[in-house]
Amino acid sequence: MTTAIGVVMTEHIVAGRLEDHRLTGNLLRYPDDAGALDALAAVPGGELVELLASQIASLASVDPASVDAIGVAVPGIIRSGVVEDSPNLPQIKGMRLAEALTKVLAARGIAAPVHVANDADAIAAGVAATRGQLNKLTRVWTIGNGIGYGRWPYVEGVWEGGHITVTLDAKERFCGCGGVGHLEGIMGYRAMRLRFLDLEPEEVFALARKGDDRCREFVDLWHRALAAGTASFIHLAGPGRFYFTGHNVGFLELSLLRGHLESMVKMSPLQSYSLEILPPDDETALIGAGVSALRALAW
Ligand SMILES: [Zn+2]
Repeated sequence: MTTAIGVVMTEHIVAGRLEDHRLTGNLLRYPDDAGALDALAAVPGGELVELLASQIASLASVDPASVDAIGVAVPGIIRSGVVEDSPNLPQIKGMRLAEALTKVLAARGIAAPVHVANDADAIAAGVAATRGQLNKLTRVWTIGNGIGYGRWPYVEGVWEGGHITVTLDAKERFCGCGGVGHLEGIMGYRAMRLRFLDLEPEEVFALARKGDDRCREFVDLWHRALAAGTASFIHLAGPGRFYFTGHNVGFLELSLLRGHLESMVKMSPLQSYSLEILPPDDETALIGAGVSALRALAW
């Protein structure tokens, strides 16, 4: 039997214990109040490491020696355990998170290796694990304040899919990174608020359904942008399974997306893709973080 501890750190921290890739026991959350938004924004990086270590230690306390691996999923560019960038948790930018957490855990008597993964990659790993398709290419778009792209199996690279260029229109400059023409500059929540200074994104989608021309035009652009991003990845890595999740996945209409995608992917060997919406949850990323950590042991 393999035992792993999976942790997800996004707007909050959720941790759980996995036995043979399955969750056992209760999840631990910080803060306890699930409704608290941006609870981690003001917590210094060092304290975040302590918070992670406390949750891991509590889950490992039954038998610390039985834990094979610890996986932590965080948003941002993650390479070799280092958080190279993390726009939504800026205090961990540049942090050697795997190393820092390993050290704090060692002081608590926990010696299992720590593996850090991008949160969208962890969702892709979690989907692959829970559906018994760890040997298949699985890709995930996370639609939230930013736009994340994740893939399983992990391959070396940056994979900032949310920042691929989907338009040459020089006026498209709402991306949080400052880049022109980016997918997130059209689809991201913050970007939509900058575009529609008089309407919240929820109102834009609601008015589009009622037939408002300006909003309908934008909702179509939003879906076309996602189709363009998806089509680009199909043309690079091939067809396969694409999943869509995240806080704002409720804005997505698969039929509209599919229509645009069909206009963009015309080579017949590339048309065998599937599209599926997943309700957002923390468990999938948590399982994926643990599974990625176990797989990393074998590399
Ligand atoms: Zn960007």
